[in-house]
Amino acid sequence: MRKNIVAGNWKMNNDLAQTETLLTALKAQKITSDAEVMVAPSFTNLWSAYNTLKNTNIEVAAQNMHFAANGAYTGEVSASMLKSVGVKTVILGHSERRAYFNETDELLAQKVDAALANDMRVIFCFGEELSDRKANNHEAVVGDQIKNALFHLDAPAFQNIVLAYEPVWAIGTGETASPEQAQDMHAFIRQTLVDKYGADVANSVSILYGGSVKPNNAQEIFSKPDVDGGLIGGASLNAEDFFAIVNAF
Ligand code: PEP
Repeated sequence: MRKNIVAGNWKMNNDLAQTETLLTALKAQKITSDAEVMVAPSFTNLWSAYNTLKNTNIEVAAQNMHFAANGAYTGEVSASMLKSVGVKTVILGHSERRAYFNETDELLAQKVDAALANDMRVIFCFGEELSDRKANNHEAVVGDQIKNALFHLDAPAFQNIVLAYEPVWAIGTGETASPEQAQDMHAFIRQTLVDKYGADVANSVSILYGGSVKPNNAQEIFSKPDVDGGLIGGASLNAEDFFAIVNAF
């Protein structure tokens, strides 16, 4: 059966001292739900986070990686580098990477392959723009994002794939998809997996919702049958808020 997961994406926030302060506050919190918990600090703080959290139930994830094993890619970080600092999960395809760093579905397919080839788990993000939703095109856009980046994979690969539906219009805006909008899209995503890989695979993949999830709306969103957790931006920078979300299951 699929897992409930709550992952915090810290984005480009927190220097080393701030990271240590937040990690200490996170360690003091109690997980009272069945959710798997992870946080994704910036590259420079992954090793420190790994060491601070290694005997806890909080996993350290990375926010991005390059598809190549090594070489002349100035400023980039590879899967094996991440693994060497204890990171086993990587977020790929976040809308900020797509929008500001021109990451395409084709590039993301290469990154997904590199992560899986290195036995890493991928949190694969996708979601429509507001204009897509207004044009009632949101399912087609999301369906294409999933197919283009993931449907070359074989069924067993999905053991290491977590999906994160993040409508771009809801990220960092204070605007959330309603629980019904989230459920409708998650059901569509699961059906897309059923059509390609069958019900067993589709029912084993966790589908997270991301977009202005806060302590006051998490429970209702997580209560929906196809919502298996959240990818949390802003609220993951505060230990109490993040754990209120973790424990909203
Ligand atoms: C995100 O960046 O993945 C995100 C969901 O951000 P926020 O929770 O701040 O909307």
